[in-house]
Amino acid sequence: MISSSQRDTQRIVSGKEKSSDTSFPENTLRPKKIEDYVGQEKIKKHLLVSISSAKIRKEALEHIIFYGPPWLGKTTLANIIANEMGVNIKSSSGPAIEKQSDLVSILSNLEEGDILFIDEIHRLKPQIEEILYTGMEDFSVDIMVGTGTWAQWVKLPLKKFTLIGATTKLSCLSSPLRDRFWNILKLDFYSDQEIGKILQKNSQTINLNLDDIIVKMLAKRARGTPRIANRILKIIRDYHTIGKNIYEQKELENILYDIGIDSLGLDYLDRKYLQTLLEKFAGWPVGLGTIAAAIGEEESTLEDVVEPYLLQVGFIERSPRGRKITFSGKEHINQ
Ligand code: ADP
Repeated sequence: MISSSQRDTQRIVSGKEKSSDTSFPENTLRPKKIEDYVGQEKIKKHLLVSISSAKIRKEALEHIIFYGPPWLGKTTLANIIANEMGVNIKSSSGPAIEKQSDLVSILSNLEEGDILFIDEIHRLKPQIEEILYTGMEDFSVDIMVGTGTWAQWVKLPLKKFTLIGATTKLSCLSSPLRDRFWNILKLDFYSDQEIGKILQKNSQTINLNLDDIIVKMLAKRARGTPRIANRILKIIRDYHTIGKNIYEQKELENILYDIGIDSLGLDYLDRKYLQTLLEKFAGWPVGLGTIAAAIGEEESTLEDVVEPYLLQVGFIERSPRGRKITFSGKEHINQ
């Protein structure tokens, strides 16, 4: 049986980076400055003010949390902020920080104004989270030195740093941690026009000359997600390399159809999810666990990756009684 993680890497619209992508300059496609970062206008405006004022006051930026579905640009923003502030960024993730001492060591190595970026911050263990409370507020941590009767708590001062957390599940963040962030910023899916801009720019970087019609067609299939737009670009570049005419609309449509992306960017897992709601459960509300068991997929994959976009396009509804396919969801799946 294929495991869910294996299956995820087979998804065309999966935003996960794949090992075979080394020839694709994903890193060079990542914007480095706010002015190159497309979309998320409210967030950019807010950040520009915060960054400018922190620079004038010569202080570290206040702690920030970015939340929203995967691959919308949270990590990219954290790196842009470091770049704009002219400081170092140290990146880690909730599950990677296993012991309190790991975090203390990271914190004590930060220089004045540096940024600590913690991806999937909701997955930090509670005892590790506690270290952050005083770290974020008082820029110090209490550590135990010595052993036995000589053991004692000592306050270790830290340089004034900025914590940037990213999460797909803001509700899973404990309130003491959440309350210590001054800025809680939500990333939304991108409009087709914004994705079009990203496609236009990135296609030029990788020497593809896409016209407006092709760009629009691809943008509609990128699920409002920059990384998926980049993923599609990579795939069509591969087809171009082996001699397919990707500049011909019909041929491109066939390629996208062959690789399992439909007219709205839904892939096999999205369609399987909708089909399961429609056919197995006859359109009645169903709990996430039941759907996951019926499909043979992990609940977290459905909740974090599949559902946000289906909710966004109005193909499903979520209520306390469960998930339900909508009329337009039924129409799309029956096409
Ligand atoms: P997240 O941290 O939310 O999962 P990332 O920051 O890793 O997402 O973004 C995934 C990729 O999408 C990046 O490598 C970058 O190339 C691209 N990207 C994200 N946001 C933007 C944007 N606003 N403009 C252009 N490209 C973007």
